[in-house]
Amino acid sequence: MAGLAVDRPWWDRLEWSVRVDVIRWRARASVVETGAGVRGDGVAAATTIVNAKVFDGTKSPGWTSVRFADGLITQCSAAPAARAGDEVIDAGGGTVLPGLIDAHVHLVPGALAQSLTFGVTTVLDMFSPPGLVARAREQAGSRPDVADVRSSGVGATAPGGHPSMMYAPFPTLTAADQAGQFVAERIAEGSDYLKIISGTGGLWPSLDSATIRALVTSAHARGLLVVAHVSSTAGVEEVVSAGVDVVAHVPADAELDPALVERMAGAGIAVGPTLATIENTLGEPGGAAVAADPRLAEALGDGWARRLTSGAPGWPGREMPPYSRAEDNVRRLAAAGVTLLAGTDAPNPGTVFGASLHRELELLVRCGISPAQALAAATAGPARVFGLTDRGRVAAGHRADLVLVSGDPLTDITATRAIERVWRAGTACDRRAFVASAAEAEQLDAFDARVARVVAAVRERWSSLGPRRAP
Ligand SMILES: [Zn+2]
Repeated sequence: MAGLAVDRPWWDRLEWSVRVDVIRWRARASVVETGAGVRGDGVAAATTIVNAKVFDGTKSPGWTSVRFADGLITQCSAAPAARAGDEVIDAGGGTVLPGLIDAHVHLVPGALAQSLTFGVTTVLDMFSPPGLVARAREQAGSRPDVADVRSSGVGATAPGGHPSMMYAPFPTLTAADQAGQFVAERIAEGSDYLKIISGTGGLWPSLDSATIRALVTSAHARGLLVVAHVSSTAGVEEVVSAGVDVVAHVPADAELDPALVERMAGAGIAVGPTLATIENTLGEPGGAAVAADPRLAEALGDGWARRLTSGAPGWPGREMPPYSRAEDNVRRLAAAGVTLLAGTDAPNPGTVFGASLHRELELLVRCGISPAQALAAATAGPARVFGLTDRGRVAAGHRADLVLVSGDPLTDITATRAIERVWRAGTACDRRAFVASAAEAEQLDAFDARVARVVAAVRERWSSLGPRRAP
């Protein structure tokens, strides 16, 4: 507290009440200088939540109270932790959760602000152009009203490979001896991890297995985690054999081989199934289910509700695998003890930033994992896998990324939608600020343009491949 040191002897002569005023004035001057944790009256604010249940990222430790100040959690306890001067929030028996982490998004403008309104305090981008990533990073670093972000930047894929239909032109590879250069360029651009696209079993041109292996080797040599997109069970086999750390998506083309699932569990490979997107892709009305939940409606707004209920674009005449097979494969992974990560793949058709993560949690529980495991898949799990050591837990010393919900998501996972409050690094989020804002209008335009581009590209691809070819 060096900033509060006061001189004597004039100090000794002051009445106590005047001394308190001087301390307050000096504290105000010091926090205004740093700009951190400033309350309306200029005094650094501490907030204490009382009368709560707490899920700490893996379990419920029996705490009822969480205190935070200057962006960090300072105390968690079974007894009320409030001190004089704190803002006290009575949770009314509701549940405090770590801020949620969406382990799979693709940025569009407004993604970070919209995510935060649904309690998602960190998003992990899994392929976006460098300009979009730079703008998101700048926002996350300078504004308290948006989620934080990590990104792969441009992922590794073949020329014309997925997701060229969204983002081309961008750098691609054609051979294993280009892997080192590709990884070095991503590190220079600030990528937090490497994304690799396995197109095996998919619709688009694909990297060969030797190139995927070389990319994994190069990334690991530079200390980068590797996330691999898969389109099929053969793709899972390919990327697991290449030694990736995280598999993105769960295949629905066939049942996952039990021996492969055991290898994944043994190797500690995590899987982010993104069921919230897959259900829509395979014809299930998951987006409509999100739009129909009154607990999500206010922060969702009419513009997004319309887009979610308009349904997946649909591929007339195409045979799609049954969505239930995707859930069956998640059930196999969970039963084998594979770490699951909750990710939405928003803004794919039928999904939206933030709200769809609550849908993903519901779908994961449907696959047989407990609500606590599902919550861990959106908090402590991705924090551990992606090395985000300052978040994903309610614990003293961690970022005050917090969500307060009414009810108990450990008994009913959909209670995560009954959000009362969201704090990002200790700053309360105005959950009504995004709907009908200029930022939302920009986002809807960007989203509509992207959907139109993808739908046109997929239709063209299918017509070039001939009838009845499924992805
Ligand atoms: Zn994706």
